[in-house]
Amino acid sequence: MRVADLPLSAEHVAHFEAEGIEELYPPQAAAVEAGVCDGGNVVAAVPTASGKTFVAELALLTADGPGLYVCPLRALAREKYEEFDRLPGVDAGISTGDYDSAASDLAGRDVVVATSEKVDSAIRNGAEWVDDLACVVVDEVHLLGSPGRGPTLEVTLATLRRRSPDVQVVALSATVDNPGAIASWLDAELVESTWRPVDLRTGVYADDGVRFDDGTELSLPVDAADPGSDVDTEATAELVADAVADGGQALAFVSSRREAEALADRLTDDRLTDAVDAAREGASPDAADAIAGVDDPGMAAAEVAEELREAGATATGERLAEAAAWGVAFHHAGLSSDHRTLVERAFRQRRLAVICATPTLAAGVNVPARRVVVRDQRRYTGSGTEWLPVLEVHQMCGRAGRPHLDPYGEAVLVADDADERGDLWDRYVTADPERVESKLRDPAALRTHTLALVATGVAGSQAEVLDALGGTFYASRTSNPNLGGVVGDAVAALIDDGLLAPTDGGGIEATALGAQVSRQYVTPDTGVRIVEGLDAVASMDPDDVTELTALEIVCDAPDMVDTYLGNAERAEIYQFARSRSAELTTGMTEADDFEAWLESVKTARILAEWIDGASVEELVDAYRIGPGDLESRIERAEWLLGAAAALADVVGVDVPAFASARSRL
Ligand code: ADP
Repeated sequence: MRVADLPLSAEHVAHFEAEGIEELYPPQAAAVEAGVCDGGNVVAAVPTASGKTFVAELALLTADGPGLYVCPLRALAREKYEEFDRLPGVDAGISTGDYDSAASDLAGRDVVVATSEKVDSAIRNGAEWVDDLACVVVDEVHLLGSPGRGPTLEVTLATLRRRSPDVQVVALSATVDNPGAIASWLDAELVESTWRPVDLRTGVYADDGVRFDDGTELSLPVDAADPGSDVDTEATAELVADAVADGGQALAFVSSRREAEALADRLTDDRLTDAVDAAREGASPDAADAIAGVDDPGMAAAEVAEELREAGATATGERLAEAAAWGVAFHHAGLSSDHRTLVERAFRQRRLAVICATPTLAAGVNVPARRVVVRDQRRYTGSGTEWLPVLEVHQMCGRAGRPHLDPYGEAVLVADDADERGDLWDRYVTADPERVESKLRDPAALRTHTLALVATGVAGSQAEVLDALGGTFYASRTSNPNLGGVVGDAVAALIDDGLLAPTDGGGIEATALGAQVSRQYVTPDTGVRIVEGLDAVASMDPDDVTELTALEIVCDAPDMVDTYLGNAERAEIYQFARSRSAELTTGMTEADDFEAWLESVKTARILAEWIDGASVEELVDAYRIGPGDLESRIERAEWLLGAAAALADVVGVDVPAFASARSRL
């Protein structure tokens, strides 16, 4: 099937042809046959890099009105927005931040790109533009199964479909075990395919070699003489250097930030330089290109290093720049978003040969490589380690193979020893990914969405809440008409918390506080924590109510990200809390979970120093956090301080510190 044969305008056909898309990939053709250009609902469960964006564009361009593209991450949203905005004649808009607005400026756009949280919050704030949508595309719909955002995604989709019953829904998914369940929920045709534009072979490394699932083997002895390094790491270094010497790029996945940096450091040695040189001298004309995409790879790496330095003169930035000068980078959530973006872009431009990353990279933006090496298949939990889900490992492996550049992609899982080879083989190489199951039954998620349904006037009774939730993935998966009584529990808890109230007619309504909690897009639990803080403030000496007070309240709220508190700094934070206890809303003996509260005090202290002028570098040094951690906490604090100020108005407690701290963040 050719692009020219599709119901697209000549300028759109020309646009796609200019991008190298002339003939449809088989899954794309299947999506067209399933009705994606005719307003039909389609679920496409296909591998990474099989051209899902084009399927989305087909739906958006052929729809009979405005379209919405929902995706999980802001970095992804930006990437897609730029892509859609390049489409001739398409006026695209993006909305990802500010949870307390209806985003009315998006009305009238041809295509809006937003995260599901943003759409959900816009709906809660009265967005009417969602009623005009002709088409909704949901990317990464398998995230329905993720605890935090899955429930938001399914409730939002159910709401959009309830408000516009004729809206076309196109959902794009990674390969999962039960895509049929998602398709049946959305009344959609299912397109399921394992086709990839570049062949992928997956294997396990053990005992000096890789055995791949296509029967081939690769012998790669490890030089065990390297002191201070383990066999896994040495094998990873060999696998990476081998791919680079062959003119490819490599991604290496490890379990933690520290490991990612340590591996990058380990790779910046002569072996990789030799590999880069080998590639430059060129087994093939493409090889030198693969290192740098330009004439002189050494120069390109030096430029990347310089760009990284310019983007932030922190110690992390410096370490990153030093590694980049060798063609290697590390990538994890502790990096500032500017550094992350630069690393991703430089790698895509082939100005970096290797990225050592934590698993989050696999869920993010498009960074294909010749070879993917998964050195660690377990991740740390609070109390030990656990195996990564199959879906997650498959997403990492799926990054292998750059269309038009690599003859094939290779994914290699590194085993600790020969015994583990079989384990990894069964667990990840031959295993199917997990099923996607709804997480809406989680009481906290259900309270959040129940409150929103009542506060937005969709539901005025428990029965109507049930009715509204009837359109969710969760409801489609259970035969129990009252969803097992869980909605009743949620309503009771919300009444208890003062966010809902019974009406005379036997129904329920949101209290002024509940309505504001919903509009501010904080969870009911965060709302309750803020109100507790306000109660405490009301009985404090006004002189003691400072910005630290405001920050302690919001940092202790469940919607704030936790900050790790190490043993070494615990005593100091404890002392800090004692010395400033008059300003804090929680007494030293009152916290239900003292350790969690101390962590909040640490976050509050970091932010207080930040607004008092401490630099990123000072805070990173003093508190052992990454620049990216600081960024994410500042952003959350901004949102939560705004919410707290709005709730303070409702409760009638005057706390100017919320607004003043917010303005100085
Ligand atoms: P994913 O399925 O991971 O979202 P993308 O949509 O990003 O994959 O597509 C991966 C790459 O394949 C892009 O560079 C895109 O331009 C290219 N591509 C998509 N469809 C075709 C096609 N039919 N012919 C040639 N290249 C294509």
